[in-house]
Amino acid sequence: MSTHQVPPKHLVIFGRPGSGKSSLAERLSKDDGYLLVRTGEMLRAVVRSGSELGLRIGASLERGELVSDELIIELLEQNLVRPEEQRLIFDGYPRTLRQEELLEQFEERLQFEIDCFLEIRLSRESAIRRMGGRRVCPTCGATYHLLSRPPAVAEVCDQCKGALATRSDDSEAVITFRQRVYDDHVPPIIDRIMSRTPELFRWVDGEGGPDETYARTRQVLGLPPL
Ligand code: AMP
Repeated sequence: MSTHQVPPKHLVIFGRPGSGKSSLAERLSKDDGYLLVRTGEMLRAVVRSGSELGLRIGASLERGELVSDELIIELLEQNLVRPEEQRLIFDGYPRTLRQEELLEQFEERLQFEIDCFLEIRLSRESAIRRMGGRRVCPTCGATYHLLSRPPAVAEVCDQCKGALATRSDDSEAVITFRQRVYDDHVPPIIDRIMSRTPELFRWVDGEGGPDETYARTRQVLGLPPL
């Protein structure tokens, strides 16, 4: 790869649950000013609102099931504002072939272009092992890991000082189910991207520690080392 590679402006990150995808996206956001487009967080915000729709979504999230493509599209319609003007990272989208098709439509209609697809590669076994230690702040959405990314004060959010919680979709049965959902849906999306625009596809080995994976990611994306 050229050392003069231009860093992507609109990036999609793939990675199985437990791959560290969201933490990595947060670091890129903080260090390089990317705005995060996170469908999982949009859904959790609806759940927190306590509406009837929120209750239904909450049940799907707890079971680790994907919510309907229609709902995801509606949330993106509401949340994607002038994407052409900002550096964006899509984290958690697309998750189905239909969503991938709709991403192309969004690009056309809103006049922006995904210029990089990145996959963080991690085995299913490693992912399952890691997921037990995850914590999330229910108030602001920040994510932590007891081993690799602990908060400064145990069980307290560094950013908003809220009490940390285990995600309700992190039980053992749900963790295994979510891996299966990923394995069923994402490889076909990646295959399709590879058949259309292989030059936009990059991948990083995610088996190492978070700092190592982050450094590799920056290199792969053409971002300066920190
Ligand atoms: P995440 O925070 O990205 O791991 O998403 C948490 C949960 O929200 C997933 O397990 C799904 O139940 C749901 N979800 C998030 N993004 C999507 C999406 N693009 N399509 C369908 N369901 C989603």
